Amino acid sequence: MRAIQMVDLRSQYDLIKPEVDQAIQEVIDTTAFINGPQVKSFSSSLAAYTGAKYVITCGNGTDALQIAMMGLDFQPGQEVIVPAFTYVATAEVIALLGLVPVFIDVIGTTYELDITQLESKITSKTAGIVPVHLYGQCSNMEAILAVAKKHNIKVIEDTAQAIGAKYTFSDGRVRQAGTMGDVGTTSFFPSKNLGCYGDGGAMFTNSAELAEKLHMIANHGQMKKYHHHIVGVNSRLDTLQAAILNVKLQHLDRYSTSRNEVADAYDKAFAGHTHIKIPIRATNSTHAFHQYTIQVEGVSRDELKSYLAEKGVPSMVYYPLPLHQQEAYKNLGFKKGDFPVAESLCEKVLSLPIHTEMKAEDQEYIIEAINRFFE
Ligand SMILES: *Cc1c(COP(=O)(O)O)cnc(C)c1O
Repeated sequence: MRAIQMVDLRSQYDLIKPEVDQAIQEVIDTTAFINGPQVKSFSSSLAAYTGAKYVITCGNGTDALQIAMMGLDFQPGQEVIVPAFTYVATAEVIALLGLVPVFIDVIGTTYELDITQLESKITSKTAGIVPVHLYGQCSNMEAILAVAKKHNIKVIEDTAQAIGAKYTFSDGRVRQAGTMGDVGTTSFFPSKNLGCYGDGGAMFTNSAELAEKLHMIANHGQMKKYHHHIVGVNSRLDTLQAAILNVKLQHLDRYSTSRNEVADAYDKAFAGHTHIKIPIRATNSTHAFHQYTIQVEGVSRDELKSYLAEKGVPSMVYYPLPLHQQEAYKNLGFKKGDFPVAESLCEKVLSLPIHTEMKAEDQEYIIEAINRFFE
């Protein structure tokens, strides 16, 4: 049987091995393991790539969300609006900081928070909104930013799945995911579109003042060593990871192109399928295709998943349970039925293998296996 993987990090490494190995060796040779020069150079390169004025690196994407909320001075008891259908990290840091997660349902086609419900969620206690650019496509930032401005609340873009995606405003301005809100956050978890070989994360902002504060919070609240101005955390991007990311950033455009080619081939294979809904492409955002996620209709998604597993084709359910039905958030008092779109997606979504080194014959095998299930 073929060894098809959701993500093939080994093949990806093989193609850039000399560059990566050299970058790693340089860090070891200089022993500058913490805050070595590669961390700064990666921040600058990522700022240049994304168009963000400032990039502040940190330990992981979850920390990035937490530090962003600390930097924006969200106070315990305040509310933060977050989609009910996303990875748990977004809600987790809200709860950790003593803030109240306020869930909002999502749009069934594009997976972004439902902008038509946004204003009804805003109260005098609302501190911020966290749009999540799920699977790699930007949320409706123009509408979200307009509502946020009207109500004077902050916007933190969770860009962990969408680095490099480009959003076009109605006036023609084009901005990258993560650079439109007050702060954008991202993750360099190995399987993310720009992944390192361990944990890593970053924040984007265009405000010099906020950039300084975020940097301070990530470094124990200090500007000068052993002088602590505010309560901070210890959240650093390792020099080794920064060195690897410096190499991989140079390949990110190629990676995005490969992912889009894989997505296009799936689209072509399943367009108009009775039981498979292909991802809807937003007109105003490019897609980074962190995941290629179909919706399975009229048959059991889980039966398709097991059938594929038997044929050696992995697939994943991102995510099987919406946030409001998670045990950890029971205390918020939500129940089944509160966010019907999110709940229904949890039963229908299935992410297919997509990665930067997908072989055409492997993808054909995946497509054939799926088609055979419906025969
Ligand atoms: C991966 C991910 C995170 C968290 O990133 P880590 O680096 O694993 O902490 C947050 N939000 C979303 C949407 C993610 O996909």
